[in-house]
Amino acid sequence: MCHAILQDKSFYELLSRIDDELAEEARAGGCRCGARLHSARYPRKPRGVRREVIGADVRRASFCCEACRQRRTPKSVRFLGRRVYPGAVVVLATALAHGFNGRRLECLGELLAVPARTLTRWRQWWLTEFVATPLWSQEQGRFMPPPVIDELPGSLLDRFDGDASARLVSALRLVSPLSTVSEGG
Ligand SMILES: [Zn+2]
Repeated sequence: MCHAILQDKSFYELLSRIDDELAEEARAGGCRCGARLHSARYPRKPRGVRREVIGADVRRASFCCEACRQRRTPKSVRFLGRRVYPGAVVVLATALAHGFNGRRLECLGELLAVPARTLTRWRQWWLTEFVATPLWSQEQGRFMPPPVIDELPGSLLDRFDGDASARLVSALRLVSPLSTVSEGG
């Protein structure tokens, strides 16, 4: 059952604890202007995972500077940008979907409640936008040999050590800077 991690409550609890650490790092760093950051968390309603698994009250950490009002959204292993599905679903479902035949893709989509066209869009994102990010330019050198672009994100998961859960967490940590926001207003 390759999708089991995505329906495992303890897995999301682990991700939540990592996000708390990432948020605390960002808060402790303060604002660029030198002032303190105040918590400005906001609710998220993740799709594709049951509420009893992911939690009924899911909140994304965010901060607001008490002086210049700049907002700072820290790195996250739970969310990948503004996507409504958790980052773990975006990574693992795309990896599993690649190379699967139509019937399996349909089955996977049903299990995760991710429409096939969404999976196709995510895959396009990995193959085009993700590989064009400064983050990827910087991180791909960590791996020898580098992950095969055409097989992302599965080829990335393959480069990490540990069980399926540990590999997924490592991949989510790698892409976590893509979810940061630091902007005025
Ligand atoms: Zn500030």
